[in-house]
Amino acid sequence: MIKESFVPARQTKRTGIHADLVIVGGGLAGSCAAITAAREGIKVVLVNDRPVLGGNASSEVRLWILGATSHMGNNNRWAREGGVVDEILVENTYRNPEGNTVIFDTVLLDKVMAEKNITLLLNTTVYEVEKSSNTEITSVTGFCSQNSTTYALSAPLFCDASGDGIVGFLSGAAFRMGAESREEFGEKFAPEKEYGELLGHSLYFYTKDTGRPVNFVPPSYALKDITEIPRYRQFKAGEDGCRLWWIEYGGRLDTVHDTETIKWELWKVVYGVWNYIKNSGGFPEADNLTLEWVGTIPGKRESRRFEGDYILRQQDVIGQAEHKDAIAYGGWALDLHPSDGVYSDKPGCMQYHAKGVYQIPFRSIYSKNISNLFLAGRIISASHVAFASTRVMATCGTVGQAAGMAAVLCARGQLKPRDMLDPRLMKQLQTALQRTGHYIPRTCSADADNLAAGALITATSELSLAELPFNGPWIPLDYAAAQMIPVNGAVPGVEIQLNAEEDTWVCIELRSSRKPFNHTPDTLLETQRIPLHKGVNDIKLSFRAYTEQPQYVFYACSGTSRYPYAVARCGLPAWYLCSTGLIKPCPITASRRPPAISA
Ligand SMILES: Cc1cc2nc3c(=O)[nH]c(=O)nc-3n(C[C@H](O)[C@H](O)[C@H](O)COP(=O)(O)OP(=O)(O)OC[C@H]3O[C@@H](n4cnc5c(N)ncnc54)[C@H](O)[C@@H]3O)c2cc1C
Repeated sequence: MIKESFVPARQTKRTGIHADLVIVGGGLAGSCAAITAAREGIKVVLVNDRPVLGGNASSEVRLWILGATSHMGNNNRWAREGGVVDEILVENTYRNPEGNTVIFDTVLLDKVMAEKNITLLLNTTVYEVEKSSNTEITSVTGFCSQNSTTYALSAPLFCDASGDGIVGFLSGAAFRMGAESREEFGEKFAPEKEYGELLGHSLYFYTKDTGRPVNFVPPSYALKDITEIPRYRQFKAGEDGCRLWWIEYGGRLDTVHDTETIKWELWKVVYGVWNYIKNSGGFPEADNLTLEWVGTIPGKRESRRFEGDYILRQQDVIGQAEHKDAIAYGGWALDLHPSDGVYSDKPGCMQYHAKGVYQIPFRSIYSKNISNLFLAGRIISASHVAFASTRVMATCGTVGQAAGMAAVLCARGQLKPRDMLDPRLMKQLQTALQRTGHYIPRTCSADADNLAAGALITATSELSLAELPFNGPWIPLDYAAAQMIPVNGAVPGVEIQLNAEEDTWVCIELRSSRKPFNHTPDTLLETQRIPLHKGVNDIKLSFRAYTEQPQYVFYACSGTSRYPYAVARCGLPAWYLCSTGLIKPCPITASRRPPAISA
């Protein structure tokens, strides 16, 4: 039995942990940073204020991890993130093909717990920072409500991956919130005048079919009048989870301190929407549906962005700017949302995709005035417009991996983040990252130990590819379809088959990418308009064009607006591979536009 007499005051249990690196925030960014650093042998404390890891990807919020491929919604479909992000996604695909969010929690927890150098503190909220000088943090303090323990966590290096940037904020690091004016960085997507509006929070819900009719009595706080949502006609029975990303609110509020207010408004909307689906009479197909889950912690899109030595901006993303200190990359669209969120009559997002992936520089992932603070996740040093692309989780994860690896090199050399800008150290960092399968666009590996770079590849036999055999089905040309082919020099002729429902015309365009490393057919080289007769047409195409360097060209094929229904299949002449010596061509690219997905 424990029995204590009255004392004037008590303190919770206190524990101190010293590590090489303290990471605050266990979203994808913080988790990837911790795994990377721990694998290289340094001691890491990873602190997360919630019961599981993953942040917005956890079962508490339930967002899917997206990145540069933009869910096949742009031309970066070969740009899937490598390194730790890839490991997590591959393991999740193996264990969890159904996309069960609870299983995803276990995948991520397993990955972190496998690292003996990580001390994981869950349910522990960091709320205080101590500094030895204006510019240097010595420790952070967190409290775990589950074991009533206060942790003092000291280290020479810290990484803030907490989303709202609690460590950066408390330590006094320079930050921004809300959009920059167009004038500040000359960003065309920025508003004319700077303003405080932000991307809002969202809450998701899931439904399930119970096999028998289920009633729904809405809570008193549910939205009464669904017409307050201008786009309410877009709601469908059975549509749930990430497809309702546009149930968004709070873009005109303080997205740090008003989060609880925003959550109540989102609950109001979610239950109002469900009431509309269940009780308006317009959705008989929802009779057997019940709410299985409603979020209790809103997913936060935007709050503080901290200033590093460089602020990534729209031009870096769209122009795919080259940075000597590139350490990661992004490829998601500039994905901006109306500040009024679900109450706006504008579309839920405005997305602009660059023509390919872009580099993220190291100068954007440490604080410019707190000398031992790395930044990872959505808080990195980017303008509001550039953040609209860097914020997706696979991108946050690759930035986390870069921060983790940089911390390792700093710990080994007793350096500060900014010291890594030394060209020799930067090369070391890039090489160390590339060794872990982490891709940095247009940055060649300088790894002397990379035997593959000097390897001679021979084959015991050769195959001259005569054609890409037709494996069906025919592709309707209601949208243009294209065949990509790698070319170095003269563009080879090809034979294709087109099947027309009636006599018509087809337009064939030969296209390439203005930047040879992209996969976007943004440059028109030649056009041919070809008559088709009803039935299957064998068409021989030849072109005068040639490429200055090895790159892809696209044979793009579209129906005419009057007779759109021609269908295509492609075959390559035998001499194609011999003339270029390049690799197997890819299959026909998508002919249908994927549905709009935002984040
Ligand atoms: C509704 C919505 C839809 C989106 N859709 C997608 C999508 O489909 N795919 C996608 O990839 N991205 C999407 N995004 C963007 C993406 O989810 C975020 O930008 C991303 O999660 C940011 O990663 P992070 O690691 O910086 O932060 P988070 O994922 O928020 O992780 C931060 C972690 O830090 C913890 N933390 C916070 N404060 C403290 C503290 N004081 N002490 C300890 N721990 C703390 C949090 O609990 C959390 O676990 C969406 C965002 C929202 C809100």
